[in-house]
Amino acid sequence: MKLETIAIHAGTVIEDKNRPAVQPITLSTTFEHAEGSPVYSRANNPNRLALEQVLAKLEHGEAAAAFSSGNAAGMAVFQSLNPGSHIIAPDDMYHGLRSLLLNVFKGILEVTFVDMTNVNNIADAINSKTALIWVETPSNPLLQISDIRRICEIANERHIKVACDNTFATPVFQNPLLLGADFVMHSTTKYLGGHSDILGGALITKSKEGLWERIKMVQQVGGAVPSPFDCYMLTRSIKTLPYRMKGHAEHAGIIATFLQQHTKVDKVYYPGLLSHPNHLTAAAQMSGFGGMLSFEVSGTAKDADRVISKLNFFTHATSLGGVESLIERRAAVEGPDTKTPQNLLRVSVGLEHLDDLLEDLEQALDK
Ligand SMILES: *Cc1c(COP(=O)(O)O)cnc(C)c1O
Repeated sequence: MKLETIAIHAGTVIEDKNRPAVQPITLSTTFEHAEGSPVYSRANNPNRLALEQVLAKLEHGEAAAAFSSGNAAGMAVFQSLNPGSHIIAPDDMYHGLRSLLLNVFKGILEVTFVDMTNVNNIADAINSKTALIWVETPSNPLLQISDIRRICEIANERHIKVACDNTFATPVFQNPLLLGADFVMHSTTKYLGGHSDILGGALITKSKEGLWERIKMVQQVGGAVPSPFDCYMLTRSIKTLPYRMKGHAEHAGIIATFLQQHTKVDKVYYPGLLSHPNHLTAAAQMSGFGGMLSFEVSGTAKDADRVISKLNFFTHATSLGGVESLIERRAAVEGPDTKTPQNLLRVSVGLEHLDDLLEDLEQALDK
């Protein structure tokens, strides 16, 4: 099966004698004891099973685990490590997960944050307790690219696990397991949900053995699981994911080029641009460059805020990956210790007509 077919048909679990074309939502929290029954919804549920099966197929993994948020999925990986373990994470890691490591796992796990665009920094940070390398590429919000294949080579020869946050790329454009990673993480809140109305997360594994058994235990005993309704919504959204991603990437590529040529824009961050410092690595490991871009407005934070206030079709809001375009000045959200430039705007390019988006940006920048 090809990607578009997997997205529509993989995973579906239909046992209803009426043979509906779409899997119904099973709200029951408990199931009659019988061979193969899910027993209890924290442990499993037919809608979660369908979601996990399609996610595993999309990422070319053996199994998947769905969570109630992306952060809960990340937390399950961290919780499955032995206390005292050392993690290497990107210095521009998604700030919510960075905060999790620094605050919740303080005193439990040791973390070194490095610039992962240079793999030598990772090799230098490895010590005898290093158990996990956490990769995020493209990164949020600077769209930095790290070389998944080379990072996995370094990790594999030292028996260190690699987990890759694949939220920005989606399984449509990048499959880290095929590049050597052990685990893939998604905030399904973003492109997989695609309509800004579901919060969720997922992990997909290359092998069901080893650390995965502990991760599944954390999922089922810890209980940060999505509801049957959320699982249903996600499997429904995933059916259109390949076509949505084609649209997001096409629009983002054209908007990135437009912004790069604009006199009121200092710098554009988009891995599809030839001017991106890691464009060749991106082109080697991604089949498309995604729908996220950032740009620096000439001037100060005030000038950037003024652009946001003039826009009509880009909602000033956090998050990303929905059909509607969103824009945000990340430094304002990330707090005083952020390294994100103050005049940088992050854009989640939506699926409105491209001409409307371009016209809107043009008028907002020219005012
Ligand atoms: C949003 C996001 C997360 C966290 O996911 P939630 O669903 O908000 O918990 C993790 N990584 C990246 C790259 C994200 O964009």
